[in-house]
Parts: sequence; structure tokens; C-alpha cells
Amino acid sequence: MRVVTTREELRAARAELDVVGLVPTMGYLHDGHLSLVRRAKKECGAAIATIFVNPLQFGPKEDLGSYPRDRERDLALLEETGCDVVWTPSDTDVYPPGFDTYVDVEGITDGLEGAHRPGHFRGVSTVLSVIFNVVQPTRAYFGQKDAQQVVVVKKMVGDLGMPLEVIASPTIREPDGLAMSSRNSYLDPTERERAVVLRRALDAVEKAWQDGETHGALLRSAMMQVLDAEPLAEPDYVSIAHPDTLEELDHVDPAVGALASLAVRLGKPRLLDNVVLPPR
Ligand code: AMP
Repeated sequence: MRVVTTREELRAARAELDVVGLVPTMGYLHDGHLSLVRRAKKECGAAIATIFVNPLQFGPKEDLGSYPRDRERDLALLEETGCDVVWTPSDTDVYPPGFDTYVDVEGITDGLEGAHRPGHFRGVSTVLSVIFNVVQPTRAYFGQKDAQQVVVVKKMVGDLGMPLEVIASPTIREPDGLAMSSRNSYLDPTERERAVVLRRALDAVEKAWQDGETHGALLRSAMMQVLDAEPLAEPDYVSIAHPDTLEELDHVDPAVGALASLAVRLGKPRLLDNVVLPPR
């Protein structure tokens, strides 16, 4: 496995590979990240991972300074997983002095995470534009856990005609159902135990959907009732949105289904999770 830092080193390492699956990450890797690397390697023959905590996608009051980092452990895990190249750029490798170019996907970034984290998706789209241009992957792999991110990246790649395929891969969970996340490391033992409430809220909305409920308000309240019963959970939002446009729905078309998602503050971290309510 080669570990490279500058754009030039990365380009040289990439040039020796043919079909490449890219997995962009912010590090502090867990099995969710590694599932993407395994899939990239299997489907493309070669995998390139990036580890970069992107300052541009953090708000001024967010956890950029305290975001968990463990470079040596991450590199060992990537090596074990069969990753071919890891790009660990510095801030100036990604954003050279005088950097002045930003990518903003409009519309679908207005709601959900976009509404609660102004500038977040501008940071994500901009860093991924740099990473895609430098790596030139055949495919790029993203977790369904960050469902809005997947929609935004697909839109950007389509709108700008970027020559790569964007693949969404299932959310990997802990045995009790909590979605794996680097930010789970902020939870104390009590909070960690209670964090399963996110999965329980999603179970409730899946059940309501399977039982025939189609009203957006009632589907949202199925999630909210579960969250309200957990005093440590402070919901930021629960959402029933169109799976492609991400518009909030009053009524879910059974032929289309919906994205059920939530963001909940639990102690220090703000945790995200979602399920797709499939067409029926
Ligand atoms: P991050 O390091 O949080 O930026 O995540 C890097 C990539 O891993 C993103 O595409 C995430 O959606 C994905 N990811 C994070 N957690 C999970 C998970 N539990 N299961 C699958 N993919 C995940």
C-alpha cells in the first residue's frame, strides 16, 4: 500500500493503476468505511482511499478541532483491507495558497443537513471536486448513512459531467443497530447505550410504512414519539422526504416511497441515520 501526500505523488501513484474505486473519508475509520474500501477493491480491482478532515465543511461552532484522528491505526486498517493507495493530503495540498474556487449544488442542499449546517455541502462539493479531479477515479463509493450527501454528489457529478460513477453502499451498523460513525466515539457509556433510540425510531417508521401509513406528518410523528421517550435525545429534525428531490412530503406516493431520516443530538455528538421506505 502506498501512502502519499502531495497532488503530484497521488497523480503518479494513480497513473500506475487502471480501473480505480475511490473512497473519500475523514479518517478514524470503522467497518462502515472499510466496507466501502472492500467493495471498491472487489468491483474495480484497485482502491484509493483519502483521509482528509476537510475544514471547509465544518461550521464555526462545529467539532473541527476535536474531530477524532488516528492516522497510524487508519493506515493499518486500510492495509489489512487491501487498499492500494492512501492519499493523506495536508490542508495546502487540497487548498493551495490563493485557492478561490467553490462548488455549490443548489436546491437539494436547502433542507435536512443543509438547513442545519449552512455551508456544509459547499465544503463537501468543493473538496470532492478537487479529490475527483486529482484522483480521476472510475467509481467513487459513498455510504447511504449520509443519504443527502449521496444525492448531492450524484447531482454535482451529473451537472458538471464529471467522468465517474457514484455508488451508494448500505449503512453498516453495530450489533444493537446503531449506525457506525467516527463521532460515536464522543458518546459516554450511558449515551452509547441510549443511542440505539435512533434505530428504534427508524424501526417505528418502517413499521408504520409497512402497515400502510402514507401521511408525512404521521410518519414523522412515528419517529418523534420514540425519540421523545428518550430524555437524553434532542432531535434536530425528523424528515420524510422524496428520495430524489429531498422535498418534504405531506403524502408519500406508495409507488415512489420516501427517505426517512433524522438528526439527533445525544450528549456531545449530533448523530444521523436514515432508512429508505421502499415503493410498495
Ligand atoms: P466520513 O469519514 O464520516 O466522511 O465518511 C466517509 C464515507 O464513509 C462517507 O461516504 C460515509 O457516508 C461513509 N460511512 C460513514 N459511516 C458509514 C456506515 N456506518 N456505513 C457505511 N458507510 C459509512
